[in-house]
Amino acid sequence: MSTLMPAIFIGHGNPMITLSKNAYTEAWAKIGGTLPHPKAVVVVSAHWYITGSAVTADDSPRTIHDFGGFPQVLHDVQYPAPGYPELARQVKELLSPVPVGLDETWGLDHGTWTVLRHIFPKADIPVVQLSIDKTKPPVFHYELGKRLKPLREEGVLVIGSGNLVHNLRAYSWGDSEAPPFDWAANFEHNMRNFMRNGKDMNVVAYEELGEDAARSVPSPDHFLPLLYILGLRREDEQINFPIEGFDGGSMSMLSVRVG
Ligand code: ZN
Repeated sequence: MSTLMPAIFIGHGNPMITLSKNAYTEAWAKIGGTLPHPKAVVVVSAHWYITGSAVTADDSPRTIHDFGGFPQVLHDVQYPAPGYPELARQVKELLSPVPVGLDETWGLDHGTWTVLRHIFPKADIPVVQLSIDKTKPPVFHYELGKRLKPLREEGVLVIGSGNLVHNLRAYSWGDSEAPPFDWAANFEHNMRNFMRNGKDMNVVAYEELGEDAARSVPSPDHFLPLLYILGLRREDEQINFPIEGFDGGSMSMLSVRVG
């Protein structure tokens, strides 16, 4: 009997977190230490937000430092996990007829490695990234998640890396303990209720929450990875939130686990 691999959305936060040790990173490490050992990891990262769908398909994806304004020590970080071209081709097939490019130019961006360095610090599990097609509506991403379901039966861990609430304009730089804004707390609270009650389509239609949604999700890139994880849920499975909290008042660090 094979184990059904969980699927997890991780609130990744500020990239410097990869060099920190705090309650979030310790919780991430705990997830890595208690999961069934995955054959490979597929990551849907907020930071590969492009026109079209693509998967990384090279043997050794490079570590991308896709940010500015951070110290050299962050640019020096490497996450030398192997790729898995065969899995990339399988993802392409599963998502058909949506056209998916086999990409050898991207690599692992910081949405992936800042988190995986804590979850799987040895970097010995193969990683494939899947892009987010920014031209498509939320429901498209939810449906793509559904098509990836067979991966869970094959021991592949799917991770969505983003933030349920992500507003950098309102972010309190240097004050990570700042309490969440009302709109941020309300939005997260409503989303948690929808998820707990299996109301996936209300999560997909998050924009209906009006001003709270507009402030919490000023652009969809960090929110959409969550929809892949919800799409991967089987009907009889509960959702739980192994990690919660806010960073800088406007960034939800909530993790959402299926299975
Ligand atoms: Zn990010």
